[in-house]
Amino acid sequence: MRRGFGRLLRRAFAPDVPPLLRRANEMFMAGDYAGAASAFEQLARAAEARGGPRAPFFHVQAGRAFVLAGQTVTGVDHLQRGLGLFAVRGQLGKVFNIGNRIVGELRQRNLTKEADQIAAYMKTLLPAFDPATASPSPAKKPTLPTHCPSCGAPVRSDEVDWMDDATAECSFCGSPVRGEN
Ligand SMILES: [Zn+2]
Repeated sequence: MRRGFGRLLRRAFAPDVPPLLRRANEMFMAGDYAGAASAFEQLARAAEARGGPRAPFFHVQAGRAFVLAGQTVTGVDHLQRGLGLFAVRGQLGKVFNIGNRIVGELRQRNLTKEADQIAAYMKTLLPAFDPATASPSPAKKPTLPTHCPSCGAPVRSDEVDWMDDATAECSFCGSPVRGEN
């Protein structure tokens, strides 16, 4: 009984999650990278057109999906577009954390040329950046679930914005994601 009520409450607080976003995350998780790439590309275009805060996240995820689908040139385009949007919006901590994660992922796949390209682009976005001063987050971070319960997107503690000491905001759908201490 109690559990059911709690679930209802959580759902009531979550913003409307676009079905296309849920579908995009599902396709990515299932390994349908071409499908995920086209869905995230669509989400990125729509979000960018309305100046939405999630546009860079959608571009980055489209970029990852294109790379995994073997379309590395288009993938790198989207990755750079996403990182560039973070920079334009002054979110340099996100350029740093997300950019470095992407470079690591590309190197792991032996995509050295693409990794070097992203690393060089990051240098132009972050000419003098001290990561120690970036993105304040709770001193003692709770452990977050690996995926957003509302939209299924991956959740990473160094990429999300924190609403309070125990709650992060999903970067993709805006739902609160509670951590466990
Ligand atoms: Zn979400």
